[in-house]
Amino acid sequence: MRAAPTILHLDMDAFYASAEQASKPSLRGKAVVVGGLGPRGVVATASYEARVFGVHSAMPMAQARRLAPNAAYLTPRFTFYRAISDQVMGLLRDLSPLVEPLSLDEAFVDLEAGGAAWDEESARLVGVRLRADIRAVTALTGSVGLAASKMLAKIASEQAKPDGLVLIEPGTERALLGPMSVRILPGVGPATGDHLRRAGITTVEEIVEAGEDEVVRLLGKAHGHGLYAMALARDDRAVVAERDTKSVSVEDTYDVDIHDRVRVRMEVQRLADRCVRRLRGAGLSGRTIVLKVRRYDFSTLTRSETLRGPTDDPAVVREAAGRLLEAVDTTGGVRLLGVGVSGLADYTQEDLFAQAAGEVDLVEDEAGGAVEGPAVEERSGGERQWRAGHDVRHAEYGHGWVQGSGLGRVTVRFETPEDVEPGRVRTFRTDDPGLEPAEPLPLVRGGVPG
Ligand SMILES: [Mg+2]
Repeated sequence: MRAAPTILHLDMDAFYASAEQASKPSLRGKAVVVGGLGPRGVVATASYEARVFGVHSAMPMAQARRLAPNAAYLTPRFTFYRAISDQVMGLLRDLSPLVEPLSLDEAFVDLEAGGAAWDEESARLVGVRLRADIRAVTALTGSVGLAASKMLAKIASEQAKPDGLVLIEPGTERALLGPMSVRILPGVGPATGDHLRRAGITTVEEIVEAGEDEVVRLLGKAHGHGLYAMALARDDRAVVAERDTKSVSVEDTYDVDIHDRVRVRMEVQRLADRCVRRLRGAGLSGRTIVLKVRRYDFSTLTRSETLRGPTDDPAVVREAAGRLLEAVDTTGGVRLLGVGVSGLADYTQEDLFAQAAGEVDLVEDEAGGAVEGPAVEERSGGERQWRAGHDVRHAEYGHGWVQGSGLGRVTVRFETPEDVEPGRVRTFRTDDPGLEPAEPLPLVRGGVPG
């Protein structure tokens, strides 16, 4: 373990809910719940005001509605959150080449690797400045943990929440961890926690007191040794730069050049399926689909397409690879074909979303919609269905967002991120000719780091 607290862990505060509050002045200071609004939807993020009622992420939406009936319930606007995330990750990459994102709103940064910090004082300064820059650029708050290891940096940011900074001084780690629950250690879930509790071990200190042999006897070799080391605050895991550089790919070289276009197309579909099997086997999804073609004269082309969100859906990868192939001339014959997926992620929050969104689509009587869906959708019978939470523009009243929709009416609140006071609400017929979907407005106009 290093001697200086130069590993930084950033975690944005109630990210999706905070982004919605920043975007919609009337929701600031109010309970906001973002997630799937269908009968089997789950909460993705709850604002701190909603957490007071006991609402938390991964909770069934129906339960959240019982706990906080007056909260604002919104479908996620994933493209919007990703744009903000890109801004935040950009600020982190300015600090170091070693940035390890854990989700859209959470990442480790090795400050020493970037030369940004080398001791306690410089590390604290970087953390303070980073929080100010995030606020200036995104209008949102993030909490920062600083420590000499990843485990402690993450614990520190948890303690810093919301909107704070905690630095754990090297040498104080064991005293800090001692009284904490065993559940604070990485890899200790409910099952392992129960197992340890039945052996009379509930705190980190008690793991140390039990001794390594006893912990190994209880949990087995692989898990026991690692856990005992963590209890002693020994954590040498390195910050690993994001997986974007890596990819999962498969390719085939053919004994005889393929000339038949239909056969080339079939081979690409087959490779796409194989690639997805490998991707899923590794528990990953990716955003960028890559097609590689080596032609009869050994000239090699790669073509890629980046999707709006990560996928591990064979149909999506097949389609994208097929589209890429359309743009490649294969008339002289093909020696090799390859299909790959890069921009890999295992964003768990996103998976939660994908499920929630899938459920929402099944609901007919609710203005909820798919994650990447447009603000308005033409339903059978020609009725326009407006999605709650999405941005719209009215010819006469300007920019606003859909507060609710049903029975041929849509309610819009006209306000923008720059407004201080909540905007006014108006109701229209769903087919009002003056109303059209709009892009989200930036939270900060021309925001630059200070
Ligand atoms: Mg967060």
